[in-house]
Amino acid sequence: MSKKINRLRGMYDVTPDQVWVWQKLEATVTRILSEYGYQEIRFPILEETALFHSAIGEVTDVVEKEMFTFENRKGVSVSMRPEGTASTVRLALQNGLLFNDPQKLWYNCPMFRYEKPQKGRNRQFSQVGVEVFGFEGPDVDAELLLLTRHMWDQLGIKNVRLELNSLGTPACRDAYREVLIKHFEAHLELLDEEARSRLYSNPLRILDSKNPALKPVIEQAPMIQDHLSVDARAHFAELCEILDACGLDYQINPKLVRGLDYYTHNVFEWITDDLGAQGTICAGGRYDRLVEMQGGKATPATGFAMGVDRLVELIIDHELWHPEQQTDVYLIRDKSIPSAVAIKLAEDIRARIPGLNMMVNMGKASFKSQFKKADKSGARFAIIIGENELANNEYAVKALQDREFGQQQLSFDELVSLLSTLQNQ
Ligand code: ATP
Ligand code: MG
Repeated sequence: MSKKINRLRGMYDVTPDQVWVWQKLEATVTRILSEYGYQEIRFPILEETALFHSAIGEVTDVVEKEMFTFENRKGVSVSMRPEGTASTVRLALQNGLLFNDPQKLWYNCPMFRYEKPQKGRNRQFSQVGVEVFGFEGPDVDAELLLLTRHMWDQLGIKNVRLELNSLGTPACRDAYREVLIKHFEAHLELLDEEARSRLYSNPLRILDSKNPALKPVIEQAPMIQDHLSVDARAHFAELCEILDACGLDYQINPKLVRGLDYYTHNVFEWITDDLGAQGTICAGGRYDRLVEMQGGKATPATGFAMGVDRLVELIIDHELWHPEQQTDVYLIRDKSIPSAVAIKLAEDIRARIPGLNMMVNMGKASFKSQFKKADKSGARFAIIIGENELANNEYAVKALQDREFGQQQLSFDELVSLLSTLQNQ
C-alpha cells in the first residue's frame, strides 16, 4: 500500500459540515462592505520578498521569522503574502488608483505565516482586510470602527470589546521613542533578550511583549498620550466624539501600539474573551506613512484586518449559528424509468428556477430506500416519476412535511409554479 500523506502542520481542511459557516460569514461580510461603499480587490499570493521588507519593516515578527520565503527559478526571493496591506498599496500604486481619487478597498484571502501553530493561530489563515486611501480622518476611521461593530451585530457575535489608542503623528512617535528608549535603558537589567534586541530598532514593540516578567517595567514606562501634539490630540478627540455620538463603547489602552512601524494616529483591536489566548479578532489603525514608504506620493491611509478563522471558530465553538435547510426537493423514480428521464426533468426544472436546491436520487433503488433518503435530506417535497406518470406526462409530488398537501399529480408547468414558491421561503 502507498503511504498516506497528511496535511502540513498549521494548515487545516474545511469539511462540508463546516463550510456553510465560512460561506455565510463571507456572504455577510461581502454584503456589508458593499452597503458601506467599499470595493473588492484581489492580489497574488506570491510577491517579491522586498515588498514586505520595505512595508512591514525588518524588525517585526512577521518579516523576521514568519514568512514562507523561497527563490524562484530566476533566483529572485519571493514570499507568500503574510498580510494584505503591503500588497494593497502595491496594487493601488501599480494600477494608478491613488492619482486623484480616494479609495475604499477590501479583500478576503488566505495569508501565510510560519508561526507556532496553536488554537487560533494557523500557518494559513484568512483575513478580511479593509484599506482606505486619501482621507485624513478621523471621520473615516470612525466609519471603519462602526462598520466592524455592524459586522459583529449582523454575525451575531457578542462579548467583543474595542481597545483604542493614539500614536499621534510621526513626529509625536519619534519624540516618544526617545523617552521610551531612555526609560528602558535605565532598567536594562529588567529586560529580556528579545526586548534588548528591539531597544533601538523598535522600542514600541517592547510594550507589546507577552513576557510577564516585563510587566512592571512596561507599566512604569512613559505614556504616548503625554507626547501627543495638539493636532494629534484633536484628531483622536474627534474620533472619540463620533464613536460616543454613535454609542460605540471603547477602552483606551495606552499600551496598545501594534507591531508595525507605519502606524500613525489611531490604532485599535477588537478582542473577545471567548476564544482563550488568541482573542484578537480584528486589528488595525491609521498608516499615513506607508504609501510613501512604498515609493508613492504621501497619501493618508487607514484600515484593519479581521481574522476570519478565529471568527469561524467562535461561531462554531459557541454554536452561534445553526445550519439551514439545504435541500428543497428530492427527485426519485421507479426502477423501470430510465435515468435519462429523471436527469432531464431535473435539468429542465433547474433552467426555470434558479436558487432551488434539488437532489436527484442516483442509481437504482426501491421506492422505500429512496423515500428514506428523501426524508433524511430534509426536503419539503419529493417528485416521483413512475410508469403512470411517464405515460401521462405528469409528475407525482409528495409533501414530506406538510400533511395537508398530501400527494398531487402535476403537469410540468404546475410543478414549476409550485417549486418556484420554495426559493423565497
Ligand atoms: P498576534 O499578536 O495575535 O500575532 P498580529 O498582530 O500578528 O496578531 P495582525 O497581523 O494584525 O495580527 O493580523 C490581524 C488579525 O489576523 C489578527 O488580529 C488575528 O485575528 C488574525 N491572525 C493573525 N495571525 C494569525 C494566525 N497565525 N492564525 C489565525 N489568525 C491570525
Ligand atoms: Mg502575529
